Amino acid sequence: MEASFINQFSEQLSEPPTFSRGSYRKLLAAYSALPFVTIETISTITSTDFGEIPLSFVRYALPMQRDSRPLKLLLTAGIHGDEPAGVFALYRYMLSLSLREIPIEVYAFPCVNPIGVLRNSRLSSAHFDLNRQMTRNSIAPEVRALVSTLEHLGTSFDAAFDLHEDNPSVQCDFSGESTQAEAFYLYESNFDPMRKPIGEQIVRAVTQAGIPVSTQRSIYGERAINGVVQRGMERDKIFDLERFLTMNYTDRVITSETYVARTLAERITAQTIVLESGVRALIEQSSGHR
Ligand SMILES: [Zn+2]
Repeated sequence: MEASFINQFSEQLSEPPTFSRGSYRKLLAAYSALPFVTIETISTITSTDFGEIPLSFVRYALPMQRDSRPLKLLLTAGIHGDEPAGVFALYRYMLSLSLREIPIEVYAFPCVNPIGVLRNSRLSSAHFDLNRQMTRNSIAPEVRALVSTLEHLGTSFDAAFDLHEDNPSVQCDFSGESTQAEAFYLYESNFDPMRKPIGEQIVRAVTQAGIPVSTQRSIYGERAINGVVQRGMERDKIFDLERFLTMNYTDRVITSETYVARTLAERITAQTIVLESGVRALIEQSSGHR
C-alpha cells in the first residue's frame, strides 16, 4: 500500500510539485484507514480559488498499557505550502508506526497550510507566512485552529518535529543572509539540560542513506556544525512554530529542512529518516533514564 500511495502522489508531484483537492482528500482518507490512528477535522479553511478545505489533526496511540508512560510527540508538516516533502513523509512515518505498533503517542497536524499546499505557495489562505504568525492572538485561521487544538489537549510533549524544505529562490525574511543552505540541514532546540541533543544522530542517519548534508559553517547567519544549527533560548523576534512550542509545550524541537533542488523522492526519504532516527534516539534516551 505504501509504495503505491506515495507513487500515486509522486506522479502528480513531478517537479515543480502540485497537489490537487482530490489528492489532498485522498491523503486524509489514507490517514483514516491506518490502524491505531484517528483523524478529525479541526477547522475548515476557505479561499476563493479552492473553496472549503478541511484542516485535520491526527492521533496515533496503541491501546493503553499499564505501567507505561509512552513518549509523546508532536509532528507538523506543510506549514509552508511549497514544501510538500514533509507532508508525504509524515504520512509515510505514521503508516510505518501503525504497522509496527511502536509504543509511543503521536499528535500530528499532517498539513498545517492546505490552501498553501494546493497553491504551491509558502503563504496561507489569507496570504500569511504562518511560521511568522505563531501567537495566541493570530488572526490566521490555520494558526487559530492549531493553537486551540493544543490548548484543548492541555498536554506537553517530549519532543516536536516540524518538517520544512529549503528553497533559496523563495523570498523570506532570512533571504538577505549571505549563506543560504545547499543541502539537508536541521535546527535543534533542546532546553532540557538533562538530555543530550539528538540532531547529530539524525544527520548521521540521513548521511548514511546517501543524502547530502550541509557542510556549511553558517546557514542564514546562524552557526552550523555538520548540518545541525543548535538554537538557544535567546531568539525571540520571530514568531515561528519552534518558538511557540518551546515557550508553551515542549523543550525539544527539531526543524528539518530538505533542499528542494534534490528529487522529491529523496526529500521524502530524508524527512522520513528524520522522524525514524529522531524518535529512535528519543526512545533510547528515555529507556536509558529508567
Ligand atoms: Zn518552511
